[in-house]
Amino acid sequence: MPSETAKITGKGADMKENFSVPDIFGSLVFNDKEMKERLPEDIYKSLRKTLSEGGEIEKDVANAVASALKDWAISKGATHYTHWFQPMTGITAEKHDSFISAKPGGTAIMEFGGKALIKGESDASSFPSGGLRATFEARGYTSWDPTSHPFIKDNCLCIPTVFRSYSGEVLDMKTPLLRSMELINTEALRILKLFDINDVTRVIPTVGPEQEYFLVDRQAAEKRRDLMLTGRTLFGAKPPKGQELADHYFGSLRPRVKNFMQELNEELWKLGVYAKTEHNEVAPAQHELAPIYVEANIAADHNQLTMEKMKIIAENHGLMCLLHEKPFEGVNGSGKHNNWSLETDTGLNLLRPGHDPASNKLFLLMLVAMISAVHKHQDLLRIAVASASNDNRLGGNEAPPVIISMFVGSDLEDILNSMAGIAPMHSAATSRKLESGVKSLPDINRDTTDRNRTSPFAFTGNKFEFRMLGSSLSVAESNVIINTIVADELRSFAEIIEAADDKKAAIDNVIISKYREHSAIIFNGNNYSPSWAEEASKRGLLNLRTTPDALPYLTSPENVDLFARNRIYSSVELMSRLEILLDKYAKEVLIEANTMLEMSSRQLIPAVMEYTSLLMDTLSSRHSAGFNFKSAPEKVLIDKIDPLSTGMITLTDSLKAVIAECSSLETAKEKADFCRDKVIPAMSALRKVSDSLEEIVGSEYWPIPTYADLLYGV
Ligand code: ADP
Ligand code: MG
Repeated sequence: MPSETAKITGKGADMKENFSVPDIFGSLVFNDKEMKERLPEDIYKSLRKTLSEGGEIEKDVANAVASALKDWAISKGATHYTHWFQPMTGITAEKHDSFISAKPGGTAIMEFGGKALIKGESDASSFPSGGLRATFEARGYTSWDPTSHPFIKDNCLCIPTVFRSYSGEVLDMKTPLLRSMELINTEALRILKLFDINDVTRVIPTVGPEQEYFLVDRQAAEKRRDLMLTGRTLFGAKPPKGQELADHYFGSLRPRVKNFMQELNEELWKLGVYAKTEHNEVAPAQHELAPIYVEANIAADHNQLTMEKMKIIAENHGLMCLLHEKPFEGVNGSGKHNNWSLETDTGLNLLRPGHDPASNKLFLLMLVAMISAVHKHQDLLRIAVASASNDNRLGGNEAPPVIISMFVGSDLEDILNSMAGIAPMHSAATSRKLESGVKSLPDINRDTTDRNRTSPFAFTGNKFEFRMLGSSLSVAESNVIINTIVADELRSFAEIIEAADDKKAAIDNVIISKYREHSAIIFNGNNYSPSWAEEASKRGLLNLRTTPDALPYLTSPENVDLFARNRIYSSVELMSRLEILLDKYAKEVLIEANTMLEMSSRQLIPAVMEYTSLLMDTLSSRHSAGFNFKSAPEKVLIDKIDPLSTGMITLTDSLKAVIAECSSLETAKEKADFCRDKVIPAMSALRKVSDSLEEIVGSEYWPIPTYADLLYGV
């Protein structure tokens, strides 16, 4: 047995000291243990009470917490503090203030009071607000989120906060997430009561996000404008070797990558992130990190910290971490699997089927609530993962299609079908044992479901795995949606059952009738096959291919109503979100388009010209030396290159023209649609001709590192 305090070596090869993981775990977090140790007992109790029951934090409690926090932070070397929040940019924001306070006589003391802990004011006019706040009304407020522990990052005490406008509208990703967690807690508790489970006081949505990413050599990557400015390659011919051998998947780690992962783990552990699993992914240079699951809001914070640390720590190892959904064409892109379940404070997982799922009515009711929620709200799940970058990946035979369906596995489908009288139970609810056939090897139990790698929303034993998230997305939005739509179903189920005299019969009826109504969302087959799109359309499932196709559904009357009745977003907040998302889409596409323009005009076309002129020079020396130049090899090459270079110049001009036309459009919606219809096709056309030229032009003349340089350069 490895001991719990197994020594591991940090910072890779050059780390001097050994340390024990439990010792460093959470050492930069002001967690419950620190709070208990550092706060007077009555203050600690009062804070815990407010945390579990809600309500306002009292002034003296806030002051005491602030003072303890400051002392703790200073003891860890912090000099500054910040309200750390998650605006609608999808990443985090922070503005640092030092603890310093001026005193007479030119001296200073370190101060931090309850007021500064609870509320911050931000000149927030530069954060996206979707028209909620004109720049002349630039006030935005951050306020302490005591559900997430403060931590220290780069000598700065980070206080997790939420962010709102002057008039109180939500401007961040965190507030709706917290609201949706309270909502699902209320509705799930109501269901538990109907099953006579009365000892539970809290039901918590749990999330474990698996994070994929690429690591490339930093020096090589810095030579590419596209990687520097947009996080993905906008040009690049296919390398001779891609991922066809799948030899990278679970392969042994290269030393530089191993060292990176070790330092990353160490830094994440200090921040209380349960970094757990790491391995190489299918594409060359692609990797994955999965943490142990935690409460949804903490998972959202931790995932942000993980992404940030990945980027910074990569630099220490001469690497660049690419979190973009599709850094390279022709090899797999990166996603983020959002594993989601519901757990009670008594340790019960509401999505655990148990030994006999057919008689586990609580589980079946929860399962059917998931099925009807996903079927009814495909549009919202699609919107939760919609972005310009993720559009490059979804539906590309490597990632789930944009059609939402659910995998529950044949055993569970059998149970539901037989209950609903749709089909008789198969006898194949066979042995759960997997026999090895070798005496010395243990037999193992198999899960209730096999895996289905292609499903966008798959049941995986005791949780659902939503696989459409892009690698760079915040997990907040997806979990707001999942919590809200499931809670909304649970409420409607509870209302039906509560009104019935015979509760047991009512539970069965709900399971059966809702399953019959919504089973069209279940698809256990291959989601990548072209026939699925046809079948899905027959079933009436949505197929929203691009972000601008999906986004307008956000403010449909049904969705405005859904979010309002559940108090997640007001209709004004929804409108503003739509505006922000459309605007972000168009801006991202235009940045890529402008980057292409610059690379094409100033790097790639000149390189092709230089190569052509070399060929011309040789050709003319042949001519001067009296050789027949008409059939000379240089001439053959020039004849191939010339039409392509002319094409490249023309297509660069066309791209320039559509960019200009897009800028003249008025609304975010018009711009987003125009980007989808005109700008992206113009970018693809330019790329195609450039990639053909890359295959002909001498490698010394090609001015930017190639796919092979990047994918195999570490
Ligand atoms: P796989 O997806 O390969 O089955 P794991 O079982 O290791 O892999 O789980 C992947 C992720 O799912 C991990 O982050 C894990 O913590 C998370 N996970 C496991 N159980 C739950 C749960 N009950 N709720 C939320 N996430 C979970
Ligand atoms: Mg998984």
